[in-house]
Amino acid sequence: MKPARFDYARAGDVADAIRLLGSSDGFNKPLGGGMSLGPMMNLRLAQPDLVVEVRRLDALKAVAEEGDCLVVGAGITHAEIEDGKIPDTTNGMMRFVAGQIAYRAVRNRGTVGGSIAHADPAADWPTALRALGAEVAIDGPDGARVVALSDFQLAAFTVALEPADIVTALRIPKLSPGARWGYYKICRKPGEFADSIGAVVHDPDRGYTSVVLGATDGAPLDVPALADAVRDGKDVEIDDAKAALAAQGAVFDDYGNQIHAVALSRAIKGAFAS
Ligand SMILES: Cc1cc2nc3c(=O)[nH]c(=O)nc-3n(C[C@H](O)[C@H](O)[C@H](O)COP(=O)(O)OP(=O)(O)OC[C@H]3O[C@@H](n4cnc5c(N)ncnc54)[C@H](O)[C@@H]3O)c2cc1C
Repeated sequence: MKPARFDYARAGDVADAIRLLGSSDGFNKPLGGGMSLGPMMNLRLAQPDLVVEVRRLDALKAVAEEGDCLVVGAGITHAEIEDGKIPDTTNGMMRFVAGQIAYRAVRNRGTVGGSIAHADPAADWPTALRALGAEVAIDGPDGARVVALSDFQLAAFTVALEPADIVTALRIPKLSPGARWGYYKICRKPGEFADSIGAVVHDPDRGYTSVVLGATDGAPLDVPALADAVRDGKDVEIDDAKAALAAQGAVFDDYGNQIHAVALSRAIKGAFAS
């Protein structure tokens, strides 16, 4: 199927992108790598009147270390992260996660900002970056703001963006040298969207521990009881993870209960494996 008719514009800079997106009452969409918007338009699940290309904007390709944060432009691709083109301030976690996304052709075009804005529950960055405690930098008609990723993704495919807003960057806290991380993705074939994702970050020097479950029906889920267990140095077996999820009311079908508990338990074990 082909997309419905739409207009196309390439923004010159962030201000231009915001102006173009707000330029009519129609349904206007920023375009990152097009790896999700393209298929959705082809299937006519999305029928924007105007598509505004933002992925090549200098501001969205910028990467900088600002104090305790790595600021990664929204237009940075998964492949650029996989290839080590950005500083490794997460002890290899971001590079590992990037390499798990789809296959190389998708990673060459798909962007970290597009992935966060799209908010597919089965995608990798929403879960991994939430575990890292990332924030989302947004610019729009009302000015720039920064929102914790945990407040940004509201539900499946639903984020805290106004119609002419764009994601400009992700602000990712740097891990201490001794920090531990684990990431365990369950999918039927390597590189596919996940059936479950467990993500763990334990950084005692910063007093930070996070355990997140991804690929549920909604936004990634914090699992505080398991973060407590990690902080206390406890082993987390599959049944412990199942019990923790049940105790916070995160109950799925039998298959879901099992794979989510497996993903969490293996992510935690992986964090302390070496
Ligand atoms: C075959 C296939 C397999 C895939 N497998 C995986 C996988 O295993 N794991 C995974 O995580 N992902 C997977 N993806 C998704 C892919 O990795 C991209 O991350 C994803 O498509 C979104 O990134 P994009 O830059 O292509 O965004 P686009 O497709 O351009 O845009 C997606 C949405 O985000 C919005 N958007 C884009 N950029 C911005 C911005 N800067 N500000 C505000 N809104 C913006 C668009 O308007 C649109 O609504 C797969 C995709 C394909 C086609």
